[in-house]
Parts: sequence; structure tokens; C-alpha cells
Amino acid sequence: MSTEVPFRILPRVGKRNEHYWHGGRDGELRFQRCADCGYYLHPPTVLCPLCHSKNIVIEAVSGKAEILTFTINYQPWMPGLEVPFVLAVVRCLEQDDLRITTNIVGCDPEEVKIGMPVKVIFEAHEDEEVWIPLFTPDESERP
Ligand SMILES: [Zn+2]
Repeated sequence: MSTEVPFRILPRVGKRNEHYWHGGRDGELRFQRCADCGYYLHPPTVLCPLCHSKNIVIEAVSGKAEILTFTINYQPWMPGLEVPFVLAVVRCLEQDDLRITTNIVGCDPEEVKIGMPVKVIFEAHEDEEVWIPLFTPDESERP
């Protein structure tokens, strides 16, 4: 991957979401998970919405996902924003409603399809200690 980091407005990182934005430093996509019922929680919260447990841990997932929906943006909304780019919602394989709004990179935007298998990669903003999870086509075999 190119070392050139594109323009991006970065998230505010705090105690509750640092597992998510720092995970890429170790190449891991991390979420909160309920230690009682196993449900992944995203975005971060203080209470499991399924079983109301506060017993929440941080866990890495495989980083494998599929594209649920997407749009190709051609409009340069602000200076420095390179177009076209793909804005997508992907669904992690671990849980149907574990979804991330992200960019699809490493392929021609015209090749992107709904249902396409993708895997996580990270865009490093080391000075700000933020690793943005992005997704790229996954050529590997899946069960
Ligand atoms: Zn739970």
C-alpha cells in the first residue's frame, strides 16, 4: 500500500472507543463484546442491548466482511478530497448486525458489488494515534 495518507477528518478518540481506533496498530479490528451472551457491540456502549449485562470485554474479529451497500462519490466536497471513492456499509462475518461505514479501497470503484467479500486494512495516522479501518477485496476462499 502507498504510504501517502489521504485527507481525512479524524475521529475523536477517548476511553470508550480507543480499542476500535487503536486496534489497527496491531492489525486487529476490535469491538466491544458482551462476555455474558457473546453479542458484539458497535458503536461502543456501556450496556449490552440484548441481555443488559455490563460485563463487556474487548475482542478482535477476523476482519472479514461483505459489502451490504455502497455508493460511489464523484463530488470533491472539500479541498484535498480525492475522487472517485467508494463509501460503503460492510457487515462483519461474525455477526449480521455488526456493521461499519467505511471506504472500499484497492480496486476500481466500478468493480465494487453488493455481497462482495472484503477484508480489513488500516489507514495509519500515527501522529494522531488513529488507525482507520478500511476494506479491500478479499480473494481468499471462504467456507
Ligand atoms: Zn449480552
